[in-house]
Amino acid sequence: MKKKILVVDDEEGLRLLYKEELEDDGNDVELASSGLEALEKLEVAPVDLVLLDIKMPGMDGVEVLRRVKEKWKNLPVILCTAYPHYKHDFGTWASDAYIVKSSDLTELKQTIKDILSRK
Ligand SMILES: [Mg+2]
Repeated sequence: MKKKILVVDDEEGLRLLYKEELEDDGNDVELASSGLEALEKLEVAPVDLVLLDIKMPGMDGVEVLRRVKEKWKNLPVILCTAYPHYKHDFGTWASDAYIVKSSDLTELKQTIKDILSRK
């Protein structure tokens, strides 16, 4: 059965890139451009995994992660950011994986496969 991934990123180009690549891997992909939109979407329809940007205007990914884990404890969340230093922020430790953004999506795609196969 297809797995559903919610991609949360304020950059449209990245959202579309992730959507295309992850759909190529056989997933269904939903998009959200902000943390609030992501939380609203999760309320309406469950997903199997969330791919979450950290740096976003308004609610940042660390806060979104906290709220997601508060409500959906077992929903896997992958943090994806251009900034490796967030890894040392305790607010990010609740994530299931932490990926530094790169034009090469190999690591990200493999991590998603690993996490989804564990479910
Ligand atoms: Mg961003």
